Amino acid sequence: MHSNVLEIYTISVTNLNDTTEIIGLVGEPLFSGDDRHFMTVTTDVVLLPENRYEMTIIYLAPISTTSWDGLYLSYYTGTDGTMKRIATTQMQVYHARQLFPCFDEPGLKAVFNLKVIHKMNYTTVLGNSDIATVEPFSIPGWNKTTFNPTVPMSTYLFATIVSDLDYIEAPEGLANFPVRTYAPPPVIARGGGNYSAEIAAKLLTFFDSYFGTTYRMPKMDSVHIPHYNSAMENYGLNIYREDYLIYYPDETLETGKNLLTTIISHELAHQNFGNRVSCKWWDELWLNEGFATYVSFLGVDAVRPEFRHREFILNDAFQYSMKVDVSARSHPIVNDAVTPDQVDSYFTGITYEKGASVNRMTENFLTEPTYRRGLQYYLSNKTYQAVTGDDLFHYLNVAAQEDNRLPEGVTVKRILDSWTLQKSHPLVRVSVRDRDSVYISQERYADPDSVALWWVPVTVVTQDAPVLENWIPKIWLEADVPIKIMNHDIMKWIMVNADATGYYRVLYDDWFTGLIIKQLNSDATKISPLSRSQLLDDYFNLAFLGKVEIETALSLTEYLDQEDHFVVWEVVFTQLRQGYIFAQSQEEIDAYRVK
Ligand SMILES: [Zn+2]
Repeated sequence: MHSNVLEIYTISVTNLNDTTEIIGLVGEPLFSGDDRHFMTVTTDVVLLPENRYEMTIIYLAPISTTSWDGLYLSYYTGTDGTMKRIATTQMQVYHARQLFPCFDEPGLKAVFNLKVIHKMNYTTVLGNSDIATVEPFSIPGWNKTTFNPTVPMSTYLFATIVSDLDYIEAPEGLANFPVRTYAPPPVIARGGGNYSAEIAAKLLTFFDSYFGTTYRMPKMDSVHIPHYNSAMENYGLNIYREDYLIYYPDETLETGKNLLTTIISHELAHQNFGNRVSCKWWDELWLNEGFATYVSFLGVDAVRPEFRHREFILNDAFQYSMKVDVSARSHPIVNDAVTPDQVDSYFTGITYEKGASVNRMTENFLTEPTYRRGLQYYLSNKTYQAVTGDDLFHYLNVAAQEDNRLPEGVTVKRILDSWTLQKSHPLVRVSVRDRDSVYISQERYADPDSVALWWVPVTVVTQDAPVLENWIPKIWLEADVPIKIMNHDIMKWIMVNADATGYYRVLYDDWFTGLIIKQLNSDATKISPLSRSQLLDDYFNLAFLGKVEIETALSLTEYLDQEDHFVVWEVVFTQLRQGYIFAQSQEEIDAYRVK
């Protein structure tokens, strides 16, 4: 079993078949002094695989005051000026073993029955499940709080809090169970929890209806813990830092409201993606994080449509992760983590935002109804189980076959393996072949270490047909057939990858680039806002890479006096600033750099 920093006193084992008692002893650590934290237990009789045993371990776990993981101490200043203490937990990724001996891997699930014995003045004691009973304990001034059993869940999702925090509950009728925001009493008294309680209830209800699931924990608590620096999706007991959860109507900026709505949506999306179905091992962390990230945009779009997340995702996930994907920090979406340090190092823009962007691409090439049904099959068939990418691909493929969405003989796995098992992404080129046809080809955008290519969905819009009804690909560039010919009257402009649904960059030859610039300058609205945004992002990045002249990229900005869409201006500001930095001398850059 995993055990770290625990002081083990006694171990006893009962054979449940004949109730005989067996003595257990802590053996030598399996790998002394390393970070696998394996504790071995030896017994005085041989245990047989056909029997069932119950093991009782009496041990001491410290409350950490020096780190914010395992069981640790936090605090806040009360209205009376005194320090109020909170015992709280953070188990992801491998810290449950600091609170109890366990099989501390995401693929192994258990039902947790928790009892907490605590001083009576700590009135708010929380667990993953709801409270069954609170009774006086045998020590005067102490209580015993007993929680109902959880659903089967991985150890990294365990949480408990002992505190005197206050709460506000979401208005009745928004969810079928209590949804509450907990925070220090002064925060709740100022109304800082009202927005998050309400939005959390709406999001949970939306996710259940969208994915055809039923949230089976008896409650959802969202808790602001001072000093906590992130957000964590513990089953039924999410924990947040202040600006990810607390909203004051007269103070918080709209950008702050957008951010915290996104984060809450992400953590609640995890209740399905990560908590209900969990990655079998951390190498496929994207099955948790790439989905929570993508699904969070769908959630915000449903409950706060004014934030326009179906468009915002292009800037926030797609364009952001493409930069990470050609940096030295890039890695395949499916990573190679083994040790705790390696696992920690893969909570990246690739696992989260590229994962989300590949999900968005898949939704678009399968169409939303097919993709959604595939995810419903996946969630319903794998409830409370651990999964691999192949499980996901299987259920998406079932839906794809039912709706005949893929080319003959091609599976979702074949397509998505090419996107998840290698880093980087394609550069697609469009060029004149003759008067009536064009070449469409793919190559590696950067990263000369490899020659492998992708299954690339290509949508096409033209001067005569500038609007798409859906993003079903007109052609697929195959991993082993990287160039295709398409009929097109070259006197008219052509653009591929409408709305940047495919995860790749596009470069047109000079002829077509000229036609596109002409269209932008005469009437930019013929090209969709997301396509305009990605055109600029592609050309500036290609210019900085040396694949196109910077003058060409700048020519694409000539029409900007017509531009009024935020997804485009986001790119303009980012890229012009990048160009400015490149244009500066090294001394100027050094002087400018934040120390
Ligand atoms: Zn997450």
